[in-house]
Amino acid sequence: MAVAEYVLTTDEHPSAEQVLTRVTKRWPYLSRATVYNTLNLFVREGLLRQLVLAEGNVVFDPKLERHHHFIDDATGRIEDVHWDAVKVGDAQLDGYSVREYMVVLRGRKVRRPTVTAKQPTAKQTVKSPPPSASASSVRRETKKSKEQGRT
Ligand SMILES: [Zn+2]
Repeated sequence: MAVAEYVLTTDEHPSAEQVLTRVTKRWPYLSRATVYNTLNLFVREGLLRQLVLAEGNVVFDPKLERHHHFIDDATGRIEDVHWDAVKVGDAQLDGYSVREYMVVLRGRKVRRPTVTAKQPTAKQTVKSPPPSASASSVRRETKKSKEQGRT
């Protein structure tokens, strides 16, 4: 099926509209309803994950194993970050049963000066904006407001 062929194999983290644009380019007879219904079905069936990585930015991710995400400030491009690349302490919150969490890193991609790089610049830059790069789960966005209480 056309939608599956694209969305279950992509690493682009497309929004529903992007999926629609992509699949109707090749299969123009597909209706918007069909595409949306299929996406919802895949999410219900657990074939696809629906992520809210930013306000009003719902994207689909076929990669089911746990991983983090990096969002490029300049392009908005969402990339997968290997689970082991980010160390987060145990999330033990009194009164909460945490089902899952994910770190969303934001920053910009640094062009690596070929293989001769001496310092691990890439890694440091990725973590440079700590406010939004904290261990904020996509499911616990409300927590952010507490953390912003600066004087
Ligand atoms: Zn992903």
